[in-house]
Amino acid sequence: MKALLEAWLQDRFAATCETFGQRVPLSGLRISPPLSEWEAEYFLLGLKENLFAVDEQGGVASELLAAADASPPPASYRLFSHEPPRLLRENLCQLAAAARLILERGWLKRHVTLQPSRPEHRATADGFDLLVRSLAGRILILVEVKRSRLELEKLIADLRACSRRGPHAPEDCGFPLNHPRHEFCLATQPDYLWALAPDGEICLEVRWEGNALDLEPLASLPPRSRLELE
Ligand SMILES: [Zn+2]
Repeated sequence: MKALLEAWLQDRFAATCETFGQRVPLSGLRISPPLSEWEAEYFLLGLKENLFAVDEQGGVASELLAAADASPPPASYRLFSHEPPRLLRENLCQLAAAARLILERGWLKRHVTLQPSRPEHRATADGFDLLVRSLAGRILILVEVKRSRLELEKLIADLRACSRRGPHAPEDCGFPLNHPRHEFCLATQPDYLWALAPDGEICLEVRWEGNALDLEPLASLPPRSRLELE
């Protein structure tokens, strides 16, 4: 699977470079961190099931993105950037995670939203990468994609630290990278957090103690059927 996806990516990357009149780097496409088995499996399945498609310019089209006529219109979402040409590695992981929610965990396309608003250089991200909403619109699961298991652990440690401190301003927080996510969590009150990286995943049940999060580790994300009964 990994070899298959790698070949597909090299091919698409060459097409994107050509579209923008740029030479393919001699070393080809750099994929770092390396693809994992689950990413390859679910990214390829997602393509096959038309959950998303990648055009010759490296752009991603998907029903899972907010509608183009929404206001404000969603930022463009890409698999490859072209200045300079490279793979947007976390977007690949994000698309594979979306496919997994639908094809492995049983959510419908209309439950799942890809959040593309994050700038490419992610200094000011304030939300999460994927949302799973009930059909009534309540946020059930917040999903965050990171580059490594270490970053996942930092995310969870930061969320816990923000919660322990009680209400505080972002300027006054020792964890500026993840503080906005803590705020987003408080504001949206999800039932679960799912944090994924190529080399690991952490699933947590979210409980509330006043204005603080209590994050309880779970072995895996519960299936849709159980969440919908709650
Ligand atoms: Zn904080």
